[in-house]
Amino acid sequence: MIPESWRGGEIAVIGMGRSGRAAARFLEAQGLSVYLSDAADSDELREVAQGLTNDRLTVDIGHHDLKRIANACAVITSPGVPPSAPPLRAARDAGAEILAELDLAAMFLGDTRLIVVTGTNGKTTTTALLAHILAASGGRELAAGNIGLPLIEVAGQPPFPAWLAVEASSFQLHDAPHLDPTIGVVTNLSPDHLDRYASVAEYYADKRNLFRNASADSVWVLNADDPAVLELAAGVAGRHLHWSLAGDADAYYDRTSSDLMLHGRRLLPRSDLSLLGDHNVANALAAALAADAANVEADAIRAGVSSFIPLPNRLEPVREIAGVLWINDSKATNVSSAIVALQAMTRPFVLIAGGRPKGDDFSQLNESMQSCRSVVAYGEAASAIVDAVQSVARAAAVTDFEDAVELAAGEARSGDVVLLSPACASFDQFDNYERRGQTFRQLVEAM
Ligand code: ADP
Repeated sequence: MIPESWRGGEIAVIGMGRSGRAAARFLEAQGLSVYLSDAADSDELREVAQGLTNDRLTVDIGHHDLKRIANACAVITSPGVPPSAPPLRAARDAGAEILAELDLAAMFLGDTRLIVVTGTNGKTTTTALLAHILAASGGRELAAGNIGLPLIEVAGQPPFPAWLAVEASSFQLHDAPHLDPTIGVVTNLSPDHLDRYASVAEYYADKRNLFRNASADSVWVLNADDPAVLELAAGVAGRHLHWSLAGDADAYYDRTSSDLMLHGRRLLPRSDLSLLGDHNVANALAAALAADAANVEADAIRAGVSSFIPLPNRLEPVREIAGVLWINDSKATNVSSAIVALQAMTRPFVLIAGGRPKGDDFSQLNESMQSCRSVVAYGEAASAIVDAVQSVARAAAVTDFEDAVELAAGEARSGDVVLLSPACASFDQFDNYERRGQTFRQLVEAM
């Protein structure tokens, strides 16, 4: 399975995150010579480098040896490395074969059929939901790719499952010539990552690589409500299936009866779904339709969808105290994600927002504030948020996150929600959004 040409020299692996480390170990275990490098340098990386280094595996931290990379037989890239990064540019200029770690893994997964999920938003939720449905129809729950478990780790641990749900980012799709999904899902498309792409067209072009190996046997599960998704898939070989929140489709939401429908039949009532918000109804329809295309029985789809609990930091109910439901949506690190959360609210709510602003316009929140009781803004963005929303809601600014939680507790009345949906990055007070969500959970648990 290893291309013969790879045995003649060295394979370069770019990036020493979990995927890069796993890829390097995988290749080394195949008897290949490997050069692993990362531009970052830290005590932790030094320790990891020491643990990995052996006769066949060389590790460089603090820089990439561009000459060595340019001379490699193949270059394996980690998910977080943009195609424009210097080591990838050097490899491309030298004509080296560049493969995403995801693509390398796909080459080794034997008969496993992949359901690959991509799109701008909802990838992780849809992929996790699919994995949960597949588990409900037998087998272990396994979601891989851009979702925490690198696909190469699955490839290193046979036996392989018959079906596997895989989340793929646009960067991963950029260098995935071998990836041939049995089923591909595109959740939605909107301009994103413009800090790392020169244009929206370039970003969408990477997403389009999902279809690179499309054939008459392929199945594409598509968001009928998103013209950009339909345009992306136009003319692609294979069966096209659609879901919609707006009207009739292979899977759709019937607003009159509040049912999720699959191929014209009621799959389950919306009230069986513990996920909040219309966007999650869309994610559930996408996952159900893909699972159905993978021949999962309707009963297992129903069982999977109705037993799925929200993922951490994504509209995750933490606890109800004295009639107030506390919800952690720390993953909402930009205004558009926070708007999705506000639109999912069915009770009056107190919003906690703030952190490090990303340059978004906070007044875009205002249209979705009808049932907002008050806003507690914190951190670097506090005063900008108060200025933007005070025409539609009572708003107060504090500095510390902890004070924001305390103030929100005082604002909320029985029957309300307190929603942490920051619309900002976390980095002014936390290492990442996960830590922010964890702190929120701890503060609420301690009330
Ligand atoms: P991703 O992995 O693509 O970032 P997630 O499932 O982690 O997606 O969800 C991230 C955020 O994207 C959510 O907090 C929510 O704000 C938004 N989101 C999720 N699903 C959808 C959807 N189907 N349509 C629009 N926005 C969504």
